[in-house]
Amino acid sequence: MNSDRRSVKVGSLFMGGDWPVSIQTMWKSPLPALETEKDIPIESLLAGIRKLESIGCQLLRFAVPDKVQAQALGMLSRRSPLPLVADIHFDWRLALQCMEYPIPKIRINPGNIGARWKVKEVVDKASDHGVALRIGVNSGSLPEDLRDADDIAEACVTAAEREIAYFDELGFTNVVVSLKLNDPADVERANRIFAVKYPQPLHLGVTEAGPLISGVVRNTAALVPLLKDKIGATIRVSLSDSMEAEVLAAREILACTGAAAKGVRIVSCPRCGRASFDTHAFLDRWSDRLYAIDVPVEIAVMGCVVNGPGEARRADLGITGAGDSVLIFRKGEIIAREKIAQADQAFEDALKELIAERQTKRE
Ligand code: SF4
Repeated sequence: MNSDRRSVKVGSLFMGGDWPVSIQTMWKSPLPALETEKDIPIESLLAGIRKLESIGCQLLRFAVPDKVQAQALGMLSRRSPLPLVADIHFDWRLALQCMEYPIPKIRINPGNIGARWKVKEVVDKASDHGVALRIGVNSGSLPEDLRDADDIAEACVTAAEREIAYFDELGFTNVVVSLKLNDPADVERANRIFAVKYPQPLHLGVTEAGPLISGVVRNTAALVPLLKDKIGATIRVSLSDSMEAEVLAAREILACTGAAAKGVRIVSCPRCGRASFDTHAFLDRWSDRLYAIDVPVEIAVMGCVVNGPGEARRADLGITGAGDSVLIFRKGEIIAREKIAQADQAFEDALKELIAERQTKRE
């Protein structure tokens, strides 16, 4: 791997160098027209952004297909708790417009931005405004002469190399690169080839990875080996599913690579014919709250006494079915035994106590 791993600043977020790998996702619908940062729809957009932030999202990208959405993103960016990214294809003028607000990072696609002078205008303005750029290479939109290459991973690297050479010529270094393909092995190979040669931070992801299950599996297969080898500065798990699912999948992928624990780790059983406590229904009710916990804790949710007490005992807080009751464990000890109808209340009391204790320790 290239030893000069550069870092890049995006608003308040640093990526690359020795900074922890960050998590990002992409907004899944068009923005409404916004004239000012006080327009009414802003509040519900901000609530959605805050929810993503609460579960671990650190950077949020929006498609910017026209001037109206560029302006809307500009208005939103002024109040967003997260740094926002404008995703630009085809029209370099939209990138120039976004930098006026400013929006702290712009993704451009070398396959469709066109003439060099357009790229130069974007780079010059980014340099003036302290905006980071991502060269986002995608196997589905490669420059024309690379589209039929036999080796698609190499072709993606070549597309990125051309842009990097031009950015270097212009003296611009505040740049992140992504090489996205839809086969996990190709993603891994392209990023390994790139990382050996270049110092630019890499945004990792599998493109068009499919619905929830295939998407999570493909992203995990590609990203875990790269991250374990310290390749990758930021990740986006693209799924034909919700933004929340993308962020939670990214969290789990980072956890698999041994990244420092952040927030909750849930251990739960799949439920079977022996279950006396419905773990699925319990997690449906509790997942949002559990994933918003911002101190490292392990929570076990188990269906019966086969594996329940064992797992619940090892976790920071565990709940398991036991006949017509649940047992609640803290630090390996049973602290409550309640009828199933009282399970949520007993769990809530124990959780509040645990979180308060962890927060006090952190202070
Ligand atoms: S803990 Fe009990 S309910 Fe859950 S999968 Fe195991 S045997 Fe089934």
